[in-house]
Amino acid sequence: MTVLLPGFLDAHVHLALINPAGLAAGGIGRVLDLGGWTPSDDPTGAEPEGTANFLETRFAGQFLGAPGGYPSRQAWAPAGSACPVASPSEAAIAVARQVAAGASLIKVTLNSAAGPVLAPDTLAAIVVAAHARMLPVAAHTEGAGQAAAALNAGVDLLAHTPFSEALPDALLGAMAGRMTWISTLDIHGWGEPTAAFSVACDNLARFHAAGGRVLYGTDLGNGPLPVGLNRREIEALLTCGLSPDDVLAALTADFPSRPAAASVDTASGAAASVDRPAPAGTVTVVPGDRPTDPHDLAGFTDWLLSAHALPASSLPARALTRPDLEDLRS
Ligand SMILES: [Zn+2]
Repeated sequence: MTVLLPGFLDAHVHLALINPAGLAAGGIGRVLDLGGWTPSDDPTGAEPEGTANFLETRFAGQFLGAPGGYPSRQAWAPAGSACPVASPSEAAIAVARQVAAGASLIKVTLNSAAGPVLAPDTLAAIVVAAHARMLPVAAHTEGAGQAAAALNAGVDLLAHTPFSEALPDALLGAMAGRMTWISTLDIHGWGEPTAAFSVACDNLARFHAAGGRVLYGTDLGNGPLPVGLNRREIEALLTCGLSPDDVLAALTADFPSRPAAASVDTASGAAASVDRPAPAGTVTVVPGDRPTDPHDLAGFTDWLLSAHALPASSLPARALTRPDLEDLRS
C-alpha cells in the first residue's frame, strides 16, 4: 500500500539561504518562507528541471521590526530583507509593501536579545493593517515577555515555539485558543539539545495539551538542518506528546490564512476538503504500510521519513480527502 497525502508543509523556511532542490525528494511539497525572499529573487522564475520547480511556495517578504532591530544587523539576513517600522503611522505602508510583492502573511520580529523591539502600539497597528487585508501575522519572539507581547497584540502565529522562558499555564491556555505555533525545535542544538531545546519542548508539550494548534516547521536555512523532512523535528514533536495523527495534521495543514485557519479544527478539518477536486499543487507519497501499532513511534517515524513529494498533476485526476486520505494499492 502507498499512502497519498497533501504535500507536506514546512511552515518555516528561508529560501534565500538554502538550495531547495532536495525538498521534494525529502517529502516536502509546500513551503512557507518566513522572511527575506520573494519570487523576484529567483532570476529564472523557476527551479531547474527535475528539481523543485513544482514546490508550492508562499512567503512573508520582508521582516517588519523596530529600526535597528532583529534581523537588520544579522550577517545572514539578505540585503533589504528588513523593513523598519518606527511608529504606528508607518504600519500600513509597510504591510502594503509586502502585499504588493505578493506576500500571503506578514512577519514581525520581537527579539529583545538582539536589539530594540516594536513598541506595543506599533505592533498592534501592524496587526490591524495585516488583518484588514486578510493576512495573518507571524512573529519571531525571543527574550522575556516577547511571546506574551505578541499574544496581546493579536499576532496569529509564533514562528518558533517560545524558547526564552517557561511560559505560565494561564498564558499557554490563552495562546492555545488564539494562536498557532510553528515548531522549530531542532534549531536548538541540531541533535545536541541545548537548554533552550528543553524550554521549548516543555512549552510545546503544554501548549499542545491545552489544545493549541501546531504546524511542522524547521527554520530551514538556520544552521545544519537537513533539506527535506527532519527526523529530529518529528521525533521531538512525538516526544512532546503529539500523536502520529497529530504529526500528520501538522504536516498536511493548509497554509496559514485569515480568518479560516484560526477556526479550523485539525481533527475534523477533513470535512471541508472532502469532494474537493485533486489540487493543482503537490502531494506527498509515503510508500509502504503505516505501522498499525499506535505506540510504535519509531516505526511511524521510519515510515514517514520514506516520503517524497510529487506534483499533483503527475497523478491520475481524483479527489483527495483529509486527514488520512487514501490508501492506494500500488
Ligand atoms: Zn526563520
